[in-house]
Amino acid sequence: MLEMIELEQAQELILALAGSTSPEEVPLLQSRGRVLAETVSAALDVPPFDRSPLDGYAVRGEDTLGILPAVLQLVGEIPAGSSFAGTIGPGMAVRILTGSPIPAGANAVIRQEDTQEEKGRVQIFQPVRPGANISRRGEDLRLGEELFAPGRVLTPAEIGIMASQGLSRVQVFGRPRVALASTGDELKDVGTPLAPGQIYNSNFYTLAAMIDAWGGQTLPLGLVKDQVSDLAEVIRQGLAASDLVVTTGGASVGTYDVTARAMERAGVEVAFWRAAFKPGTPVICGYKGDKLVLGLSGNPAAAMISAALLLGPAVRKLAGFKSFYPKRVQATSADEFGKSSGTRRFIRAKVAWEESGWTASFPASQQPGILRSMLGTNALVDLMPWGTLQAGQVCNAFLLEEWI
Ligand code: AMP
Ligand code: MG
Repeated sequence: MLEMIELEQAQELILALAGSTSPEEVPLLQSRGRVLAETVSAALDVPPFDRSPLDGYAVRGEDTLGILPAVLQLVGEIPAGSSFAGTIGPGMAVRILTGSPIPAGANAVIRQEDTQEEKGRVQIFQPVRPGANISRRGEDLRLGEELFAPGRVLTPAEIGIMASQGLSRVQVFGRPRVALASTGDELKDVGTPLAPGQIYNSNFYTLAAMIDAWGGQTLPLGLVKDQVSDLAEVIRQGLAASDLVVTTGGASVGTYDVTARAMERAGVEVAFWRAAFKPGTPVICGYKGDKLVLGLSGNPAAAMISAALLLGPAVRKLAGFKSFYPKRVQATSADEFGKSSGTRRFIRAKVAWEESGWTASFPASQQPGILRSMLGTNALVDLMPWGTLQAGQVCNAFLLEEWI
């Protein structure tokens, strides 16, 4: 049997084995959270013309610098969305509204509060220097400047900038298709009654939700019996239809643990089997061509945790993200964790940001099969072999918030 692999080594290998997805074009409205696959440069100045930032009168500033009030002749109005055909000469003013283009000849805007309009004339009570109160063409975005590079995650601000450039579609990395099979003779799908000895397939639902959160999409491969030939066939189907194949269950070394043999039967090269951490030690990683195949433990909490540590980085890489791993922070343990073993352990934890920094508390159970222990879990505390924790001790935690 292959020797146990360390987490960091496993992650590196997985990133190296995960292929890539081809870019696709999506409507701007569907681009939130996607990763840009092209360089976006400004094709326009924004704003595209000098404009008024307020309601008032466009004037020649020099006309307001003498004895006040200055009295100027009102020659028209420029509502937003229109422009003024004429030129503002000496002694003239035009009424202008926020966002309207500054007319030819004018070089300043006097705000409405400093004026009084009557009978085709405007009295100006404050001087305005030439250049005052004008939003310059291109002051937000300049024609030709590079706005975003590939790898940029699109958030509302990036989306707004692209809209201000008139773009309606954008090239993003594809959402990786993750084929997901659930193995175990005891499994039933939700919505159907259970017979004695059966349990519902929860792993499919937790993992599909996590894959969605990482920017992937799940291709259901359904329930698979603990039979090498059945699972091998499903893995083949998965490889043909997806970017990455994941199975849960049957990854340890018992008689009915068929995943390793099924991978080999499907022509998958095994890269490692068993990882040097709990929960989730039984994990098999293989590849065929540029496609990764991951066999995770069937225990519901173990499946989630090993997926967060191993599958998440692969999906994020395929989805085009530049950061692959959950963030690491130092936290102060609020509880004690006394159970020590020779294997590194990721303790389910609830971390909170307090005045003194991050604190970590632990749910009652850390059993790999207790799914309830994942409720409220927003971090994994990294406990090295033979380590224990006292309350008040500093520990390392991976933050899972915004991650699962
Ligand atoms: P295994 O990894 O196949 O040895 O399964 C370990 C434990 O996880 C057993 O108690 C299984 O019944 C349970 N299990 C396996 N697959 C699933 C699943 N898809 N949903 C819920 N529990 C599962
Ligand atoms: Mg099983």
